[in-house]
Amino acid sequence: MKIIRYLDRAGQAHFASEQPDGSALVIAGDIFGAHRVTAERAEVAKLLAPVVPAQMVCIGLNYRKHAAETGSKIPAHPVVFFKNIASLQNPGDPILLPTHLASGQVDYECELVVVIGKTCKNVSRARALDYVLGYTCGNDVSARDWQRDWGGSQWCRGKSFDTFGPLGPRLVTRDEIPNPNALKISTRVSGELLQDWNTDDMIFDVPTLIEFLSGSTTLPAGTVIFTGTPHGVGLSYNPPRWLRAGDTVTVAVEKIGELTNPVALET
Ligand code: ZN
Repeated sequence: MKIIRYLDRAGQAHFASEQPDGSALVIAGDIFGAHRVTAERAEVAKLLAPVVPAQMVCIGLNYRKHAAETGSKIPAHPVVFFKNIASLQNPGDPILLPTHLASGQVDYECELVVVIGKTCKNVSRARALDYVLGYTCGNDVSARDWQRDWGGSQWCRGKSFDTFGPLGPRLVTRDEIPNPNALKISTRVSGELLQDWNTDDMIFDVPTLIEFLSGSTTLPAGTVIFTGTPHGVGLSYNPPRWLRAGDTVTVAVEKIGELTNPVALET
């Protein structure tokens, strides 16, 4: 199933199931619990990020060539950090370049995002995908100056500004993506293809990440896991390709779709 979240004309949020004819049918109930697809057509006034995350867990340096382009060693264990859930942004809404706590080095990162469907802990690699509700596209927007130079060696400051967590445009349930580590993934900025790779290059694949992240640690339903980005981030270009006001960023993941956001200055 392909699930969207949206506002209707009265400003109420709902989930709906996208249909092959382009329409969507309202889902009654909770997508993390009992729910059913009704016969009522969704009147989508505005598309929202497909889930409100319980937490945003992120993996750094999880593609071989990306680790190399940042001058980092292949990590022995997954590199874990958290993004502020308040950085969530909807498809189509702007990524705002920070001006008050200013950054001149805002970068894009296309990522496959896993949505945990059932609360879990100490899950084996073999059973890990049983706990996945589905997958969506994410952009782990990153202010490199705050990440690298001014964040006291912690990444969360540079990755947690408002609007730095676009998700969407839809959640595709796991039955439609039996192998999450065989998907083309890319980023285009204002039409230029800057990242173009495949999730089969992950150092730690999705089941391994779930086993690791759930080790001695409860992952609540609604946890979203940003699984890392391939090479080709703006930082790696010479000169660097930082995001500029007026740009449009599109993250695409095969079988899921395209997540597009314009870029503007924070006012
Ligand atoms: Zn990332």
